[in-house]
Formats: sequence, C-alpha cells, structure tokens
Amino acid sequence: GKPSGGLLEIRDLMVVFDGFKAINGVDLTVGEGELRFLIGPNGAGKTTLIDVITGLTKPTSGTVTFAGASLVGRKEHQIVRMGVGRTFQTSVVFEELSVLENIDLAATFRNPLVKLLRRRRGVSDEVAAALATIGLEDLADKPAGILSHGQRQWLEIGMLIAQGPKLLLLDEPVAGMSKDERERTGELLTEIARDHTVIVIEHDMEFLRRYASTVTVLHEGSVLVEGDVAAVQADPKVQEVYLGR
Ligand code: ADP
Repeated sequence: GKPSGGLLEIRDLMVVFDGFKAINGVDLTVGEGELRFLIGPNGAGKTTLIDVITGLTKPTSGTVTFAGASLVGRKEHQIVRMGVGRTFQTSVVFEELSVLENIDLAATFRNPLVKLLRRRRGVSDEVAAALATIGLEDLADKPAGILSHGQRQWLEIGMLIAQGPKLLLLDEPVAGMSKDERERTGELLTEIARDHTVIVIEHDMEFLRRYASTVTVLHEGSVLVEGDVAAVQADPKVQEVYLGR
C-alpha cells in the first residue's frame, strides 16, 4: 500500500567517511508533490545526502525508503528506473547533439526498450512534453553547444523530466543565472512540482523567499531546523550558522 508518511522517508541516517560523520543522524520526510529546499553551509552534508538517495554513496546505517521501497544497497541505475532522477553540478549535455536529441537520449537511458518499441523514428510523448515544459521548442534542432548557461540548465532539467521520475533532485539550479533566468527557473520548478516531487539544493535566499515553502537546513550532518521559509530564516540557530561562517 501507500506509505503512511512521505514519498521519501529517511530515518537515522549516518554516513561516516574515515571516522568523519558527514551525515550524523538525519531524519527527513518529503511528501508527494512537495517542492522542498535543502540549504546549509558548505560541508553541511547536502551533497552526501543526495548521493545516498541516488545510490552513489552507501550509508553507514539508517534507512532510505522511496514509495515504500528501500533504496539502500541498490545500484544507481536501479534507483533511476524506480523514478529518482538528479542533476549534477557538472554538465551531462552533449554539445554536438541537438536539444531534442539530448532529451531523447536521456529518455532512452531510463528505459532502453523505449527506443526499440517505437514503430518508427519520431519524438515520443515524454520527449515532446519535456521540451515544452522547459520552453526550448524554438531551439529543438539547434546543437546544445550554442545554448546560454541558463538554457543549458533548463535542458538538463528537461532531460531529467523525460526520464519520467517521480522524484527530482536538483543541485543549485540557479547558480550563475541572470535575474530573468532565475525567475524563469522559479516558475519552471513550481510547474514541475505540480506533478513531481522536487528536492532542490539552493543557497540563494532571495530565490528561496520567492519560491520555497518548506526548507530543511542541514548543519554538520544533521537537520538544524525545518519549516516554513520565513520561520527558518528568522530562526536564531540558522542566523548563527550563516553569520558565524
Ligand atoms: P555540502 O554538499 O553540504 O557542501 P558535502 O556533503 O559535500 O557537503 O560534504 C559533507 C562533509 O563530508 C564535508 O566535510 C566533506 O569534506 C565530507 N566528505 C564528502 N564526501 C567525502 C568523501 N568521499 N570522503 C571523505 N569525506 C567526504
């Protein structure tokens, strides 16, 4: 049956690297359809947490449950097929391929049979939908290498969506973006969260104030505070961590 709590449930998570506790007892529940922001100073454990969810890092102890199934011990590609997708800080875009071909390739990665099952070469529904969502239809046939920084970030999000994930994990999607691009990305995330669950690592406070509802603050491998964006920002513990840097 459906899990009683969230789509993603993490309990008593520990990740120890050579005696160093990168994640030190994290509990996290993210409900279906949530747009959750994850913040925290450098070294707080944000990337490690995402690495554990996606199978890149094996936890020392604790549980990670997605849609009622344990993710611990599964391989990265299995977790992708279960419906968990992530972006990386390094680009995964093929510059010589067109925008459309990049999305098509990503869709094929989740399910290699998609390509074989197609009667004739054509754009599948999920690829067309992903292209429309990111608003790059006009650039569909252009090589990805010509895209601006912002457009490339949207392409990566489109590539992720085309894989049909239930849960998307985005690492600093507005880093290096112009004001207009940030705004467009905020709208895009809001739109995506209508039919997906999204976890975003983001530092930009202005962006959080505008687009975040629930924020989880990590600090030294533990959840420091969690809640409404305004309450989190006003929390003395959060101010201390950020001002004390
Ligand atoms: P954040 O993403 O919040 O900046 P990270 O999850 O990258 O934090 O890192 C948390 C801590 O764990 C840091 O002190 C980092 O140096 C350490 N760490 C991360 N990965 C490894 C690793 N593979 N081996 C040893 N230490 C690591």
